Amino acid sequence: MPKKRLPTETWYKNIRPIIWKRDKGKCVRCSVEVSLKECHIDHIRSGVFANNKLSNLRTLCYKCHVLRADIKHRGMVQRALKKGVIPPNWRELIWEDVKS
Ligand SMILES: [Zn+2]
Repeated sequence: MPKKRLPTETWYKNIRPIIWKRDKGKCVRCSVEVSLKECHIDHIRSGVFANNKLSNLRTLCYKCHVLRADIKHRGMVQRALKKGVIPPNWRELIWEDVKS
């Protein structure tokens, strides 16, 4: 069966608030408070194991999301550097917890 992606509307209206509330409006990694609008919902397992089950999703702040060692996040690094969200030594701060 072809993989079906959730429509963007469902994602924003339903899933984001559920994950954000479950994680108490905080980044699960550094515990900084993030607003529903600003939070980043991250797939814990990405790539072939990615799914939109609630257990595979978590709330991250922008910084932790950018610094996650996921090749798909690399595009965000340059933008985050320009904005000053991450320091020039960001490579030392890369983190990873789940091997996918
Ligand atoms: Zn964080």
